[in-house]
Amino acid sequence: MGVLRKSLCAMALSLFAASAGNAATLLEPTLHVKPQGLEVGSGRVALTLDACGGKTDTRILSALVDNRIPATIFVTGIWLKRNAEAVEIMRAHPDLFELENHGGRHIPAVDTPQKIYGIRSAGSPDAVQAEVESGAAALAGAGGPAPKWFRGATAEYSPSAIAMIRRLGFKIAGFSVNGDGGSLLGAKETARRIAAAKDGDVIIAHINQPTHAAGEGVVQGLLALKQKGMTFVRLDDAEGIGNDGTTD
Ligand SMILES: [Zn+2]
Repeated sequence: MGVLRKSLCAMALSLFAASAGNAATLLEPTLHVKPQGLEVGSGRVALTLDACGGKTDTRILSALVDNRIPATIFVTGIWLKRNAEAVEIMRAHPDLFELENHGGRHIPAVDTPQKIYGIRSAGSPDAVQAEVESGAAALAGAGGPAPKWFRGATAEYSPSAIAMIRRLGFKIAGFSVNGDGGSLLGAKETARRIAAAKDGDVIIAHINQPTHAAGEGVVQGLLALKQKGMTFVRLDDAEGIGNDGTTD
């Protein structure tokens, strides 16, 4: 009995070590757009908003439409199914909204079994492929152009998953400004982070948490950037340059 318990403990320890080892190899790639390179304070930034699941933050959606701020929206299959009204608004403004692939079921594109921010990874190459392809299929089913960019849930990847996603034909959308801390930051801090974006930055925030204070900060930060004379570009309209082999 004692021996069995010991060997189980050893097994658990080695599993823990294996998963810790894998966790260390995860990448959170960055992405920048080509800077406009004019005077200080102005320039261009790309706003990317994730729609992971849940609902639509209409504070943000309305502000984008009212102020004519273009954005790249990363949507999952789950979100698309539940937010037909928001999708319709986005489709009605093709000059403002570019819809891209955030996966079919919001499962991290990591091909080894582990948890990232408490979310279970896809866990195998096949499961990563299924997540990417089901996300693209959901977008195709909702009409509109085929997605060219992919961002996995949690925006973290194993290097081999990055290579596979590239082979599937997608560029991978990292970011350079974490605007809302996974939608968990307060309004003030979110606004401060977004308003501080510089020429060439790619901002990430969320458009699927209408009850979070962060959404209010997203709007304030964007309006501050617009006021400063910053131009907004979508990923398709800019040369996005990422590291870790995500765009080249
Ligand atoms: Zn997400």
